[in-house]
Amino acid sequence: MTRQIKKRLAGLRRRLVRRDLDALLVTDEMNVRYLSGFTGDSSAVIVGRSDAIFITDARYTEQAAAECPGFDIVTRRSRMIGEIAGQAGSLGIESLGVEAHVLTLESGGRLRDELAPVKMVETTRLVEGLRERKSKQEVEAIRACIDASERCIEHIRSYLVPGIRERDIAAEMEYFVRGLGFDGMAFPPIVAFGPRGSLPHARVTDRRMAEGDAVLIDWGVAGRGYCSDLTRVFFHNKIPDRFRRIYQIVLEAQQRAIDRIGPGVSAQEVDAAARDYIARTGFGEQFGHGLGHGIGMEVHEAPSIGPNSEGELRRRMVFTVEPGIYLPGVGGVRIEDDVLVTSRGVKVLSDAPKRLNDMVITA
Ligand code: ZN
Ligand code: ZN
Repeated sequence: MTRQIKKRLAGLRRRLVRRDLDALLVTDEMNVRYLSGFTGDSSAVIVGRSDAIFITDARYTEQAAAECPGFDIVTRRSRMIGEIAGQAGSLGIESLGVEAHVLTLESGGRLRDELAPVKMVETTRLVEGLRERKSKQEVEAIRACIDASERCIEHIRSYLVPGIRERDIAAEMEYFVRGLGFDGMAFPPIVAFGPRGSLPHARVTDRRMAEGDAVLIDWGVAGRGYCSDLTRVFFHNKIPDRFRRIYQIVLEAQQRAIDRIGPGVSAQEVDAAARDYIARTGFGEQFGHGLGHGIGMEVHEAPSIGPNSEGELRRRMVFTVEPGIYLPGVGGVRIEDDVLVTSRGVKVLSDAPKRLNDMVITA
């Protein structure tokens, strides 16, 4: 068992003690990976106060043994729920926590029946809570994805010429980052030409870039089990007047939010720093989404940074800061960077150019 895995299990066990649970059943695929190092699927982990059981099927026995040293590897011969109930029974425990946000109603009900007399206790996001704060190695892995993202966008600039399709840009990005040795894009990139930029989650289409189109690209890279998430907006030859103003507002809003970030600060307050500024410029209604979200093993994970967020920022959290203004029929501007909360405040991990004049592509 690596030091990293030992630390994670210890962190989870402290939470079990606090909640008076004897063990936790982990079935979310990413949480299983986080706790065990296993890179396959269809498996579950039971973490007790001192036991760590890994349940899989015959396809994965060999892989699990190699990837999860220190776990008792169990190859199930029957249904997963029956095996889980049997293992929990043999641990001699009274209560087993389950991930209520992951189990379906159907499997939860069946598990409850089969576990008896062991009591099933619903928990939510215990492991996700641990995952919020990144280790040094995790930050390094995210940084590597960010670096690749920045090389990718630098590469793609020269492709942004009238006539090219959104789809062509997305394909070239994928090809380029794979060439760098990464797994690929962390999610299908958004490449939105002209008015399509007002759709915060546009899918790429066959639309061809026209003279004067603004180009919004939201992209991330996946590799070594982690990912990045950035957004930039480019202009071809000149900046349309309407965009000049909203670009500066979004950039300023982002900076105000970044300036607020630090350990102990409420996530809501950081969101408000950007949101209130945008509202004062009269575009409040055009910023309809949260300010940011955690990134790590997944592109969207805890914490969320929005007007309804409850938590406080803590050291070693990594998340995005991505205010935007969207004008239907005209286009949109979103600027997204990835930040790390440090003991002193914040470190912006991404540094792809974003000053307005840097975003003009001349060709
Ligand atoms: Zn994004
Ligand atoms: Zn994002």
